Amino acid sequence: MPFGAPAENDGVDTSPPVADEVKTTTCYMCACRCGIRVFLKDGQLRYIQGNRDHPVNKGVLCGKGAAGIMNHSLPGPSA
Ligand code: SF4
Repeated sequence: MPFGAPAENDGVDTSPPVADEVKTTTCYMCACRCGIRVFLKDGQLRYIQGNRDHPVNKGVLCGKGAAGIMNHSLPGPSA
């Protein structure tokens, strides 16, 4: 096989879709309120991306906003 040619994948999907639904909303991790796109699969949060069409952040997310998924995937503090 020539170098750089795509490898045979034997029927394995090497790039499955990350989401079946995308919602636009706002990051509430600070007062800036950047626009975000939230990727959901089977109703579960999978990925957060900046919304390029939002006038505040134009698609850019800070590290805190990008890590917002951790608010949903980690257990909260015990009572
Ligand atoms: S992405 Fe960052 S700057 Fe924007 S609202 Fe969230 S925490 Fe604030």
